[in-house]
Amino acid sequence: MIDTHCHLDDHRFAPGELPDLLARALEAGVSGAVTVGCDLASSQAGLTLAETHDRVAVAVGVHPHEAKHWSAAAAWTLRHLATSQCVVAYGEIGLDFHYNLSEPDAQLTAFREQLELAGDLGLPVIIHCRDAYDEMLPDISSWLEAGRTAIMHCWAGTPEQAACYTAAGAHLGFGGMVTFKSADAIRQACVETPDHLLLLETDAPWLAPIPYRGSRNEPSRVAQVAAVVARLRGSTVEGIDTLTTANAMRAYPGLAAALAAGPGSAM
Ligand SMILES: [Zn+2]
Repeated sequence: MIDTHCHLDDHRFAPGELPDLLARALEAGVSGAVTVGCDLASSQAGLTLAETHDRVAVAVGVHPHEAKHWSAAAAWTLRHLATSQCVVAYGEIGLDFHYNLSEPDAQLTAFREQLELAGDLGLPVIIHCRDAYDEMLPDISSWLEAGRTAIMHCWAGTPEQAACYTAAGAHLGFGGMVTFKSADAIRQACVETPDHLLLLETDAPWLAPIPYRGSRNEPSRVAQVAAVVARLRGSTVEGIDTLTTANAMRAYPGLAAALAAGPGSAM
């Protein structure tokens, strides 16, 4: 299993804790994790973690909450970071019209300019979307029509919106929210996602699945998510593991090499 989306640089993970965290993940059947950047500092921190640990890969980018800090200088820095072989995706980028921590116009500019940058870099994009699924669909559709890959992380839209995104070819990532009591719409979207577009994630340290809800989440808990997704889809944990691991390797083409690259490699 792969945790396709987490934030291992978060301050809730103590420095030096990562080897234990990764050992617990491996014991639970989770053989790799993609730590995702939200701004320049977390992108750089994630890259350092990926370069110094086996089984960790990284995505770099500026989150919609941080869109007000998007600039040509930020683009230059991220372009430079993305030259590392440990960088397997660009993100997380997107639109968050729920919190609007950056002005919507600034979010749209940062989102579209980063899509263009990710295209230049030849990287798949990891998308954060909240209360903006309809507004975002045209941008994602044209991105996908160009033969590129998009991962809608932590899917939280309606089943109808999910159908539009998967028809366009977007991958949908599901995490702890599939276990939440009020999440019937997310569970339905998860059941209806075509096999080849299904991904698992934790968004750790956020969104711990039940019965850990509210506590610090970690990559090992993608195993709990897999168990629930297997039950929902009438599959087995082994079946979901095989399917979503293959999907993750296809969605992030550099993943196998990046996970193998750590302190023991010559990178
Ligand atoms: Zn995230």
